[in-house]
Amino acid sequence: MWRVVLAVGLGAAFEAVLGWLLRRRRPASATASEVIFFPSRVTCTEELLAGAPCACPLPHGESALGRLLVRVLAARRSLDLCLFAFSSPQLGRAVVLLHRRGVRIRLVVDADYMALRGSQIGPLRKAGIQVRHDQDSGYMHHKFAIVDKKVLITGSLNWTTQAIQTNRENVLVVEDQALVNIFLEEFEKIWENYNPVNYTFFSKHEKTGIENG
Ligand SMILES: [Zn+2]
Repeated sequence: MWRVVLAVGLGAAFEAVLGWLLRRRRPASATASEVIFFPSRVTCTEELLAGAPCACPLPHGESALGRLLVRVLAARRSLDLCLFAFSSPQLGRAVVLLHRRGVRIRLVVDADYMALRGSQIGPLRKAGIQVRHDQDSGYMHHKFAIVDKKVLITGSLNWTTQAIQTNRENVLVVEDQALVNIFLEEFEKIWENYNPVNYTFFSKHEKTGIENG
């Protein structure tokens, strides 16, 4: 009996490792421009985030969220984020992972949506990531990311589980340096604009620690 159990167990483990290796062999889509449409089917993102095979019951194939994660996790030097709302735990984990690898993270968010239920902003700040927010009456409504100052990720998608799993959204990944530079310039402008030393008044948002790190 135990032989059968062992054989089945080994078989499952073998399949998990084989599947993982096969998926890893898939040409990394991190070299060309692409469009990712949402909603994303629910798949396991553990392999991408932990970098190890996973045998959990969730499907382990490709998904829109998986493709977005691959693009974000490709960062080696810097990740500049300009997001209206950020509550996706998988994307939050990816950003913390990059931060721990030494990637310079800068995150700009909308002040009114920082406290959204499940917001990643608190955990990200606790991890030591720099977060700045607007002090405007209008929304900081962008949803773009710049990876290594070379790849632009932009579109309609808020980085929330609700949007990822239920909304029709588009995300465009572009490797056009001229276009990336324009977004970079705008990011630098916003980053400087939201520098706490430039704050000209104190709104309800500034009372609890303006910036980390
Ligand atoms: Zn899994």
